[in-house]
Amino acid sequence: MKRSDKPKQKTAGSKRTLRFYVWWYFMLFAVLVLLLLWVFQYFLLASYYRSARLRSVEKVSGELTEAYGSDSFENEIRRMAFDNSMCIIITDSSGKLQTGANNLGYFSKLMLDSFNNTGYYMHQLKGELTESGKDYISKIVKNDSISSEEIIYVSSFKTERSENPYYIYIESSLEPIDSTVSTIREQLIYITVILFELAFIITLFISKRLSSPIVGITETAKKFGSGDFSVEFDQKGYREVSELSEVLDNAKTEIGKVNKLRADLIANISHDLRTPLTMVKAYAEMIRDLSGDNPEKRNEHIQIIIDEADRLSNLVSNILELSKLESGNLELSRTSFSLHDKIKDVLTRYTLLIEEQGYDIAFEPDEDRIVTADADKLDQVLYNFINNAINYSGENKRIRIRQINKEYCTRVEVADNGKGISKELLPKVFDRYYRGDKVQREVVGTGLGLSICKEILKKHNFAFGVQSEEGKGSTFWFEIPINGGEQKAEPAGSKDPNAAAK
Ligand code: ADP
Repeated sequence: MKRSDKPKQKTAGSKRTLRFYVWWYFMLFAVLVLLLLWVFQYFLLASYYRSARLRSVEKVSGELTEAYGSDSFENEIRRMAFDNSMCIIITDSSGKLQTGANNLGYFSKLMLDSFNNTGYYMHQLKGELTESGKDYISKIVKNDSISSEEIIYVSSFKTERSENPYYIYIESSLEPIDSTVSTIREQLIYITVILFELAFIITLFISKRLSSPIVGITETAKKFGSGDFSVEFDQKGYREVSELSEVLDNAKTEIGKVNKLRADLIANISHDLRTPLTMVKAYAEMIRDLSGDNPEKRNEHIQIIIDEADRLSNLVSNILELSKLESGNLELSRTSFSLHDKIKDVLTRYTLLIEEQGYDIAFEPDEDRIVTADADKLDQVLYNFINNAINYSGENKRIRIRQINKEYCTRVEVADNGKGISKELLPKVFDRYYRGDKVQREVVGTGLGLSICKEILKKHNFAFGVQSEEGKGSTFWFEIPINGGEQKAEPAGSKDPNAAAK
């Protein structure tokens, strides 16, 4: 298909509004209802009434021929004639009147026939019935004396008492229908006018009510789309709109977070990269211009360059690690191992620190347990917790790694008696790039360590958290479920920092 052949897509602006559609469909519905009313009440009413009358004539004939000869027959025939506005005559095969009842008054066709013509008309009807070979005949005839239409019905029946058949003639007026129809038709015109006007007004109102919350949301969304993050999707009205508002509000919050994160990320990364790079450049220049000939100074400056390069590579590998963890591409390779062995193994790395810098780092074990986890990743968590404890323990160099066996899990705590973390900052420590305000530059950190721990522990489904009090120290913990069973992971510290884990 050529490009120009493509059907043109309607833009939102050229489409009709919800209000119009609601109004349109409602009016269509009203027209349909009216149409049905007119078809049934106006056009089909007369024929429906006729067939209903005919059915009742047949029913009366059936009931009377059954009851013929019984003691209560005279009462029965009178009651039937009265209830149904009929003239009913029963004759024998020779046309002799047996019995009858008339509720149609003096102008009944059958009545006049039996008085004036000695039953000539009925005789004719009998002939027609015999000729037709049917059980009964019924027809609509005009009664000239009162100029109205009536049903004339005749059928034959036999009784046990006589060989020859009897004939039952029924005359039923169709007169009431005309007055009813004209009343109904008149009413129908009123109903049509009223319904149409009502439908018009009600639909205008309903369509406005339905569309206004959506119009409101669209307006807010337009502002949001143009970059205003302060908008509130708080449309009330009906459930769908409230839900849509809620979803959009959540989307707004999430987009806001991502936006902020992106800005923070760029700011943090560029800051963190620039500082060591500035140092590297400064010290390299210093070696070139000043300390190049002084081996002692030169080595000192080269060491600084090496340290800063380490810091840089640390930062880059942390960023990579975190993005790998967060993308969900990283698979854990779980193995079972002794927790005692693991912790002791990790602590061997700190022997030098303990001996040379006077740190008091010790393991307070419980009974050894075999735990299931990704050993390398668990190392990383332990190193991060212990390194932080060392970095932030200040003058007090006492650090304890505790194992606490519980019924369903094994808890591991890394506790220090350092400066602690304030209540306000506690919920943020596991966030990416969060670093305490007064973190000194000598403390080699990227602000990513704890968020890496968080991702690792979340991936393991281990509960974890932190308890801390300013000036008294911090305890970072995680819990390894027994039998590889999983327990819900949540940064407990970020919710209720000082609450003991269950
Ligand atoms: P980094 O240590 O590289 O700054 P982390 O993600 O490991 O980044 O830690 C985030 C922040 O949490 C730290 O900057 C520090 O302010 C605070 N923190 C972490 N561990 C401790 C601790 N044991 N005592 C006090 N503050 C801590």
